[in-house]
Amino acid sequence: MNFSDVPSSRADAMSDKTSMHRNAIILADANNFFASCETVFNPSLAGRPLVVLSNNDGCVVSRSAAAKQMGIVNGTPWFKIRGQAAHDGVLARSSNYELYASLSHRMMHVMSGFFSHQEVYSIDECFLHGTLDDERTYETCRRMRETVLRGVGIAVSIGVAPTKTLAKIANHWAKQHPSSHGVTLWTAIEREFGDDVLRSVPISEVWGVGRRITKKLMGMGMTTALDLCRADPVLIRHRFSVLLERTVLELRGTPCIEDESDASNGARSTQILCSRMFSSPVRGFSTLSQALSVYAQQACHRLHRQGSLCGSVAAFCSTSPFSKDYSHVGNSVILDDPSDSPMVVAKAACEALRNRIDEHAPYIRAGVMLLDLSDSGHFSTFEGMDAQRDEHGIGTVLEDAARRFGPRRVGIGYGGIRGKGRNDADTGASWTMRRNMLSIRGTTRWDEMPIAHA
Ligand SMILES: [Mg+2]
Repeated sequence: MNFSDVPSSRADAMSDKTSMHRNAIILADANNFFASCETVFNPSLAGRPLVVLSNNDGCVVSRSAAAKQMGIVNGTPWFKIRGQAAHDGVLARSSNYELYASLSHRMMHVMSGFFSHQEVYSIDECFLHGTLDDERTYETCRRMRETVLRGVGIAVSIGVAPTKTLAKIANHWAKQHPSSHGVTLWTAIEREFGDDVLRSVPISEVWGVGRRITKKLMGMGMTTALDLCRADPVLIRHRFSVLLERTVLELRGTPCIEDESDASNGARSTQILCSRMFSSPVRGFSTLSQALSVYAQQACHRLHRQGSLCGSVAAFCSTSPFSKDYSHVGNSVILDDPSDSPMVVAKAACEALRNRIDEHAPYIRAGVMLLDLSDSGHFSTFEGMDAQRDEHGIGTVLEDAARRFGPRRVGIGYGGIRGKGRNDADTGASWTMRRNMLSIRGTTRWDEMPIAHA
């Protein structure tokens, strides 16, 4: 294709796409999700500058609107701004994953009732598919937003467009423009502002355009979404990839990005990794094996969920990469038969590192990886050989116990080491995550349920 084939404007490119308005893509995305969750059971936080911190209270991962206005940036290490934050009255919370997951579930459940098809994209975002005309879609979105706000206490922003990439842009518009009251139709802003909408979106903010691609596109003189929209899709495919070509077409209103939940129905992970950094260094095999057992158990949970068996188990641990004598130890064990039993996998993970680690070295990270995955439904071997299945349903028992009594009350090779005090009551083990500023887990813990005074 040569450049003369490139449509002179987006309108030309879209004129032959008569079907594009038949299906609307609705992107609903919670505003400042983690920070918003914190205010649900503590309304006194509403309107105040609040940040939520990552694992071990490391970096800022979510900010309330007031904290954003103060110029606090996501990814900032907490220790760097702690002093100034205290001075400015900025409040901080540890990540309360139990609470966020539970509120996310409620929010998604409420929204699933408004449109025919829902694709949960992340903890606070989902795509919905609408078949109504613009006016009724808009009305339904307004009602959905109100219902989530009233029922769950979380404000969501909604963007409606013919494609996912444009829905992202419309969603961003809804967040940036209070006059939209949280719902923006692509067709409406395009009618009113024309090319200025795409011109106002920096190329780095287009969905699917990462940092490396941004740099290359900028080198080619493209700085806004409009530039990319007007680029030759074939040229883009040759210079970049078919994925970026799809982005170009999506910006022009042609849906090209499939429903990932459909695609993932058949596709499964080919390996499962569970690895964590410790809150304080761990020494000695016996403590390290506690952590490995817990990670093995978590990895098995995911193995079970996707209906797979694993053929081998790898385990590793490492000291700080910044220390003088950095060391990384890793080894794998091939199982006698493929298995999904947490007992078998936990044992294998510990065996992999037994007698291999330095008993005195301060390890700061460890992980368990499940490899050689196969479909548990189709597993068959020669007579006399069989998969080491979790026949006693130990995985299920552990999951039920966790659901009923809280995570890690029961575990493999791990009984009786629970500590005292709420914040480290998860295990009491020295290596578990540090969450010193944790709010109540009001929807998942009986002992932390909020009390209403009437
Ligand atoms: Mg969000």
